[in-house]
Order: sequence, then C-alpha cells, then structure tokens
Amino acid sequence: MIIRNVRILGAEPADIRVEDGAIAEIGPGLAGDDTLDGAGAIALPGLVDLHTHLREPGREDAETVQTGTQSAARGGYTAVHAMANTSPVADTAGVVEQVWRLGREFAHCDVHPVGAVTVGLEGRQLAELGAMADSAARVRVFSDDGRCVDDAVLMRRALEYVKAFDGVIAQHAQEPRLTAGAQMNEGVISGRLGLTGWPAVAEEAIIARDCLLAAHVGSRLHVCHVSTAGSVEILRWAKSKGWNVTAEVTPHHLLLTDDLVEESPVGAYNPIYKVNPPLRTRADVEALRAALADGTIDIVATDHAPHPVEDKETEWSAAAMGMVGLETALSVVQEAMVETGLLDWAGVAQRMSVVPARIGRLAGQGQPLEVGAPANITLYDPSVRTKVDPSAFASKSRNTPYEGMTLPGRVVATFLRGRPTVLEGKLV
Ligand SMILES: [Zn+2]
Repeated sequence: MIIRNVRILGAEPADIRVEDGAIAEIGPGLAGDDTLDGAGAIALPGLVDLHTHLREPGREDAETVQTGTQSAARGGYTAVHAMANTSPVADTAGVVEQVWRLGREFAHCDVHPVGAVTVGLEGRQLAELGAMADSAARVRVFSDDGRCVDDAVLMRRALEYVKAFDGVIAQHAQEPRLTAGAQMNEGVISGRLGLTGWPAVAEEAIIARDCLLAAHVGSRLHVCHVSTAGSVEILRWAKSKGWNVTAEVTPHHLLLTDDLVEESPVGAYNPIYKVNPPLRTRADVEALRAALADGTIDIVATDHAPHPVEDKETEWSAAAMGMVGLETALSVVQEAMVETGLLDWAGVAQRMSVVPARIGRLAGQGQPLEVGAPANITLYDPSVRTKVDPSAFASKSRNTPYEGMTLPGRVVATFLRGRPTVLEGKLV
C-alpha cells in the first residue's frame, strides 16, 4: 500500500510505501495502485503513551482494554503503558500477563503493562518486580501511580532491584502527609475558596529525594506528571549532574490553571477540573512549557484517567480525581506548544513517540519514519479547528475538561505495523 501526499514531521510532501508492516520506500510519486490519499497531512511516528489508566481488570464500567485502546488509536497512539492501579492490582506476573493477553486479543494498539512497585500499592513490601520483568509481559516500567512510594528505604530498594533488567521506577511524587485531605493547588485560589491546599513542596520534596536516591544507587528514575515550576528547577539540577532521570508532563498541565476551580465556562467547583496532581498557576504552566521545549521535561504523557459519570458529577470534595486525555492530547500539545512556537513537529514526535518508547524500552515503537522501520504512523491535520465533543469519544468515559472548547488539529489516520486502526478519523 502507498500512503500518498503526507508531510513527514511537517516536511515537503512525499509518499510512503508500506509492505509487510514496515516502511519499504519513501519518496515523491511512488508507483502503485493500492493507495490512500494523505491529503497533505503531517506524518508522525505512532504516538506512545507512558501513562494510561485502562482500568481493566476491575473497573470495566470506566474503561476496558478494548475501549481504552480504541481511544488511544483515535488519539494517534500505537502503544500505551497500562498503569498498575487496577483491581486486582498489577503486582504479580499473573496480573500483568492477564493485561498483556487482553491487549493481544482486544487492543487497537500495543499494550504494555506497568507493574506495581509495592504489593497492593500499599507501600509496605516490594512486589515481585523480577517475576513481572521475566513474564510474557516483559515489564520494564514499575509504578505505584495514584500513590507515592513515600518510604525512602523501599524506594531505594526498588531502584536497586530494577537495575538487573534495565527497568525504571516511575514515581507519583506526592508526599502523603503534606497532602492529607488536599483538594486543589495550595495558593491564592484555594485560600479564597477555603479548600485544603496541595502544596507544590509535597511534589518537589519527593522529586528531589528520588533524584538523589537514583544517583546514589546508579539507577533509572522517571517522574510522572510534573506540575510545578519548582519541580522543573530540581529536574534541571539533576540533569546537569548527568543523572539518569526523566520526566513527563500531561497535556492538561500544559494548558489549564487552578483558577478554573473558581470560575470556568462550566461554573465554579466543577469536579471536571479535579485532578492529581492538581492544576497549578499560570507561572507553573509557563515553566512546564519552557521545560518541555528545552528538554528538562522529556515527554508528554496523558495520565488518561477515565471515571464514570457518577464518580465525577458529584460535589467537589467527593469527586474522583482525573481526566480522560488520549483523544485530545495531540490537539492540546499543538495548542500549547506548536501554536506558541515552542516546538515544531519533529519536537512533538520526539516527546510523544521516540523518547517515551525509549524510556519504556519498547523496541518496535517510536522509530523515526525511515525505510525499514515498523509502519507505526499517525496522520494529523493541524489546519482544522473543532469543538471538543465528548459524546464522540471512543473512551467509555467522558470526563474531559475540554468539552465545548475549540482545539486545533485532528488525527486523520493511525497505522499499527501497516494496518490501519483509524481512517478518516474513525475506528477501523
Ligand atoms: Zn499519578
């Protein structure tokens, strides 16, 4: 098959010939009959998410492997890492293999289970990291995400343990005592609203400690969903030392701010904006954008966190934390990073495909679009602007903060090893 008239990373139009799931030829005017018109869309390597909550097993009312990966494919993703905070928790070889098998059977993109760091995410005892690494799922990313590994001795031991198989600990940096009962970012707005604040230092203190621990034992640390300007400064310092530390930022932390809790198009105290870590200030957003642009923050990860209506449409203090994100990620990154001139499409490809695949140690994903590479390709039209309509999402959940907002761009097609999973914006 030949995909005609696409602009690889925004370059001049070219055709891509796909054969046996790989890119066989790239050039203008390739000969052949079986063709698909790319209509000048931008071609990116298939996106890779390091941080997705697929909810299966246990909360199939919120999302399943099937619907979550359909959502991923529609967002241009060809691989996702499925977080471990399922029920049961993915803390054994048996559970990660179950998720991996569901992925092989039902998924619209590759599914790589993340293993829990501690048994039951309880922070008391290390999970079977080695058994999960050796399992069919070949787990390389471990995280108690949703909770912080706050015990420094356990964190040290986890970092030491994963060195044996080149694994990485992805930390949800949240000092639990400093955030007990926290409802939103601690600052001017939380003071005015009388909501318990979530101080930036609760994130920054854990990141600083973990960078030091990772350096001390010579291991790999990945920091989930960085949300404050202070965290950026710590990461910049750790990287200047040459330490093996990577970090992610979510699309929503690149665009939205905590004042939406007080005043927004959908009213005050709308739990659609309740998320962990919380939305921060405009100064934090500016620091996160600059850090993603200069490489201090390595990647964008969605933290796609589906919740059913009854868990979100309730009073603020009782509502679940989290937002869906797979189907809007690329548009939000275009709005926050490309339209602002901070990143070009090559930069987007690095941060949403190449580097996340590298951190997750995925061999067949995140490859540049070159002859011989697997044909994992996302076609994206950045020229349209559309109103976000959650009822059109493939995700089982609708908890998006962007409902009714006009965002740029649209995923036109997604190819997983040459096979289309999305064509003309629709699931295949
Ligand atoms: Zn988290």
